[in-house]
Amino acid sequence: MDITRSAQLRSWLALLPPLAALAVQLLLWSLIQPYVWFLFYPAVFISSWIGGFRAGLGATALSTLIVLWFFVPPTHALLKGEPRAWFPTVVFVAMGVLFSIFHERLRRSERRSRDSEAQARSMLESVRQGATVFEATNEAITVTDTAARIVAVNAAFSTITGFAAGEALGATPRIHRSGRQDKDFYERMWHSLQTTGQWQGEIWNRRKNGETYPAWENISAVRDADGTVSHYVSMLSDITALKQAEEQLRHMALHDVLTGLPNRRLLAENLESALARAQRHGHRLALLFLDLDRFKLVNDTLGHAAGDELLGEVARRLRAAVRQEDLIARLGGDEFTVVLEELQHPDNAAHLARKLIEAVARPMQLCGRELTPSTSVGIAIYPDDARSAADLSKAADAAMYRAKQRGRHTFEFYTPEITAEAMERLAIENDLRRALARGELLLYFQPQVALRSGRILGFEALLRWNHPERGLLLPDQFIPIAEECGLIHALGGWAIDAACAQARRWADAGLNPQRIAVNVSGSQLLHKHLIETVRAAMAEHRITPGELDLELEITESVLQSASRSAPVLRQLRELGVRIAIDDFGTGYSSLGVLKHMPIDTLKIDRLFIRNAPDDSDAQAIAKAMIVMAHGLGLHVVAEGVETPAQCRFLLEQGCDEVQGHLYSPALPGDEVPALMAHHAAGLPWPDTTHH
Ligand code: C2E
Ligand code: CA
Ligand code: CA
Repeated sequence: MDITRSAQLRSWLALLPPLAALAVQLLLWSLIQPYVWFLFYPAVFISSWIGGFRAGLGATALSTLIVLWFFVPPTHALLKGEPRAWFPTVVFVAMGVLFSIFHERLRRSERRSRDSEAQARSMLESVRQGATVFEATNEAITVTDTAARIVAVNAAFSTITGFAAGEALGATPRIHRSGRQDKDFYERMWHSLQTTGQWQGEIWNRRKNGETYPAWENISAVRDADGTVSHYVSMLSDITALKQAEEQLRHMALHDVLTGLPNRRLLAENLESALARAQRHGHRLALLFLDLDRFKLVNDTLGHAAGDELLGEVARRLRAAVRQEDLIARLGGDEFTVVLEELQHPDNAAHLARKLIEAVARPMQLCGRELTPSTSVGIAIYPDDARSAADLSKAADAAMYRAKQRGRHTFEFYTPEITAEAMERLAIENDLRRALARGELLLYFQPQVALRSGRILGFEALLRWNHPERGLLLPDQFIPIAEECGLIHALGGWAIDAACAQARRWADAGLNPQRIAVNVSGSQLLHKHLIETVRAAMAEHRITPGELDLELEITESVLQSASRSAPVLRQLRELGVRIAIDDFGTGYSSLGVLKHMPIDTLKIDRLFIRNAPDDSDAQAIAKAMIVMAHGLGLHVVAEGVETPAQCRFLLEQGCDEVQGHLYSPALPGDEVPALMAHHAAGLPWPDTTHH
């Protein structure tokens, strides 16, 4: 209402200047008669200034009439078409119109700026009224004007940025720039704001205390009634926690949970870029593959928790042994990888391998006992051995296998022959999977002889594989592979059953084998099906303890996990199975451990027998083992007896039984009856001290 009335008033007021001009004209008529009508120019100017466009036009029209009728002498000259009168009239009208337009524009822009001020005021007012929302929100809200000066902030702004409202007002948002974004970033932001009036995205800002933080910011342009941008409102949330969670997820996806080392995926990523760098700069690169020795045994015998603990400790040792910039990863299981960039010479890789092997092989406490882990390392070098990550990995893996074969706890460089060997292993593994079904496995039997009487007390069943192309294979050529790929359980189960079946057939044929011994590997012993397999074989083949004994030969290393193996051994004992400790003296257990284990027989490893007659150390050890075993009530068997001298030595020491080539090698099952018949008839062994 007010505005319209004042506009009307202005329109009327605008007519005053021409009238005032008329009055002046009339007053000064005689003095400056020909030129007075120029006075109407300022009159129209003032009118349009006061009243705007329409008032200006009105004043122009009024002035024209006045001028034409009263002052352009004579008006009738115009009417008569006198050209002198046309000119001032047209100029006068044109000037009036121009003034009017000019003033109208001026008025409009003034109005606009007044409006926008009012809008900003009202906006800040809508902010203040909604203060609860404005202040309570977790997002930092910043209102800036078009000159990028901050005109309002909320409480969250101060919380997030650390700047008090007083410090921020009047400043520009530059106060919390982190400098992490480049010029381009801000240019894109401005471009978006200018074209769409909107920008949102992730941005790194800096708090007052200097700390940078990630934020999600949403900026909108605020426009006034006719669409001109008057302010910008930014809403910003601190996404540090979100980023951390994101980072954690990424870390989890790319790292091994157990050891915290990079996993296979991250290794693959990093190896690719390392190879690209090596290629670009013409550098060599070494890929080291590490595999812990006999880790499976630790896992199987001491349990997974112990296995995990061991892996964690090994990972720490490896991490500490490499440089910060060297890439180290756990591939899974007990496999680790180290990438050595900018390799000057292959020797450097060998040096590192040695260092890693030594770092791993320090004693550690595990499940209350001391244990010394060890590792085998394979090395492949880019570009000498392979160029792609996949081929390089294969080469390092093959080299690692070679290191294992060479006796473990060592390293090996890749050579092309190694690939051939690795391929062969793989071929054997494949063939082995079918060997059982195709009936290619068989048992040989080696007699175990009472040392004093020379009587056969039993046979040890030894596995053979009649390979269709390779011929008769010895256990060393396939048992380790079977252990690695898990086939040992099927193989071992078959051996137990087949040995029992054979012993039954001999007994039924009137021979008296008395005892059949079968080898059982460490992981097999702890396998859940072992007891059942043994029970079933004994039942099916009527193995009745006392008349026909079954003895299981277990390697000494199993004793290291007494807590897990003892219950199994006890269960076996309850079935009437005898237990022998095989290869005694090569493991690390003390005789003391034997005291608490349900064991019947101790088999002294042939290493001590072989050296006993000449080597005084071996002699002393063998002696001590026999004495202590007897002290524990154990039966003692000496393995690998090849010479009469060894036989005499063992006889002197009171050893109970012998087994070895001096008596007989392992024989196919069908040759055993003749041997048994021969000795049952009381015939002596050739070349022995027995008569
Ligand atoms: P082991 O239990 O120590 O078996 C004795 C090995 O020594 C046999 O080798 C035997 O042929 C050999 N040997 C016997 N007397 C002499 C001798 O006077 N001099 C020499 N130099 N060697 C002699 P083989 O048959 O090659 O067996 C090797 C290993 O394979 C065995 O060692 C045993 O640990 C494993 N093995 C054999 N059969 C089985 C099986 O059915 N299951 C499992 N898990 N392992 C088996
Ligand atoms: Ca054995
Ligand atoms: Ca043995």
